[in-house]
Amino acid sequence: MGEEVALATRYASRVSETAASSPLIRRIAHLDMDAFYASCELLRYPQLKGLPVVIGGGRRKEDDLLGKLQAAYPEGDWTLERFVENLDRIPVEFFPRIEGYTGRGVITTATYAARQFGIGSAMGLMKAAKLCPQAILLPVDFERYRHFSRAFKSIITDIAPVMQDRGVDEVYIDFTEVPGGQREGGRVLARLIQKSIFDATGLTCSIGVAPNKLIAKMASEFNKPNGISIVHEADLQSLIWPLACRKINGVGPKADEKLKGFGIHTIGELAAREPHWLVEHFGKSYGAWLHEAAWGRDERPLETESEPVSMSRETTFDRDLHAVRDRAELSAVFTRLCEQVAADLQRKGYEGRTIGIKIRYDNFQAVTRDQSIDGYTHDAQRIRQVAGQCLKRVDLSRRIRLLGVRVGTLVKAGTAPHADKPYIAAEETPYEQADLFFTDD
Ligand SMILES: [Mg+2]
Repeated sequence: MGEEVALATRYASRVSETAASSPLIRRIAHLDMDAFYASCELLRYPQLKGLPVVIGGGRRKEDDLLGKLQAAYPEGDWTLERFVENLDRIPVEFFPRIEGYTGRGVITTATYAARQFGIGSAMGLMKAAKLCPQAILLPVDFERYRHFSRAFKSIITDIAPVMQDRGVDEVYIDFTEVPGGQREGGRVLARLIQKSIFDATGLTCSIGVAPNKLIAKMASEFNKPNGISIVHEADLQSLIWPLACRKINGVGPKADEKLKGFGIHTIGELAAREPHWLVEHFGKSYGAWLHEAAWGRDERPLETESEPVSMSRETTFDRDLHAVRDRAELSAVFTRLCEQVAADLQRKGYEGRTIGIKIRYDNFQAVTRDQSIDGYTHDAQRIRQVAGQCLKRVDLSRRIRLLGVRVGTLVKAGTAPHADKPYIAAEETPYEQADLFFTDD
């Protein structure tokens, strides 16, 4: 197929209120996986452990490695299957180095060994190549990282059910009412979670436990990697105030620059400012929030996943496609995306009434269009027909890099309120005939 298919489900937030009614001391953990992408790679290439490895750049090129192996060991009778079974035996010198890299690729993750050379996330690969030319460069494999992401999160919710997702490699966990969650300020439970994740996946994480999300997020960084940090309210002055303002999740580079302009570098210096002064210079809501944050106050509850609000499928093409010249290919992909979204909806038991498309052009500009229908559907033909209408509302004279289909405004299948005006059959055209990737008009 030669293309990546991504699926996404967006969830509405449900707020967890366990702490409000609890007489227990609120204990919130922030768990952050250590160098997550790189660690997932080292699980299959253990021979790279301890070496500088960076993840980033283009698509996986396992075939390159396979080709090298075949050339070096022609008697080895290498099949793809044998290759995949022997990833851990590929000699280190076979892996591509970052040396001489040219291009605009960016690092997503660097191993701790690579970080000692000053390499970090979001750094350009060309710059990293100058800092540490011998670093090994591996392409990203999101499918694999998502697999491990689901695995570690399900281990956590088995132990501590109130968890807020914060992306592929981090979560907040409410320890307050979990057995052991109060012992040693949360350290006992944190240790159990760390060990359970490691035993099941071989991956390490760092955990900060604190009175709230704001401080827990800072605390998880204190002892990386594979560390646990416990912060109590009384530790604010000694542990939090010496930190740079930028360590507060919510103080970005711009706000930080402005704070520095006023001579405010640490959280302690921020805490020392009068709230009205902060409001005067940073606005009513942000200024007030800065004051609260500096004093370690944060009442935000955990938001746990509940009902999905939309489901989507999208595909990035190997080469940019044109609506006219590549019409057959685009049309087939489009049909498949609709079928996949329909299958996702049916498998999970949902129907939706807002159907939309997303297109990204060769210049990376993205457009979306959607349309609501009467009633709800999880039918592939119906989805394709409405999505096809949406396609007619975008510029199809330009080359297309990505195509996506989304169904939103979801309800549990069979619970949809009865539509007064059911979908009008007369407007329907069999989708085989619908002119979806129509010409240049
Ligand atoms: Mg991480």
